[in-house]
Amino acid sequence: MDPNVQNQQSPQQAPVQPPAGDEEIQVGKYKIKVVRDACIGAASCVAVATQTFKLDDKNKAVVQQGSQDPAETILMAAQSCPTKAIIVIDTETNQQVWPS
Ligand code: SF4
Repeated sequence: MDPNVQNQQSPQQAPVQPPAGDEEIQVGKYKIKVVRDACIGAASCVAVATQTFKLDDKNKAVVQQGSQDPAETILMAAQSCPTKAIIVIDTETNQQVWPS
């Protein structure tokens, strides 16, 4: 096997850089924030909303801009978090929908 092929990294596999702090990112109608101190890297959010959440190199969830996950999927992902580290605000109503 060509060793150069093994060392090539596709853009999808590039490590996710940690944000400077608890960022609020808009995805569809929701503004989403991961409280990094509360995130234990359980990755249930990543499993449920695969486009919206990724783990960074510190094993904390990071919200991905431009996700096409449906709003219900994002909400389910937030609800799956064992530490309620994901805050979801509906920008149409300006209400926090999770944690409720
Ligand atoms: S489910 Fe919660 S604790 Fe687990 S990675 Fe996502 S935000 Fe972090």
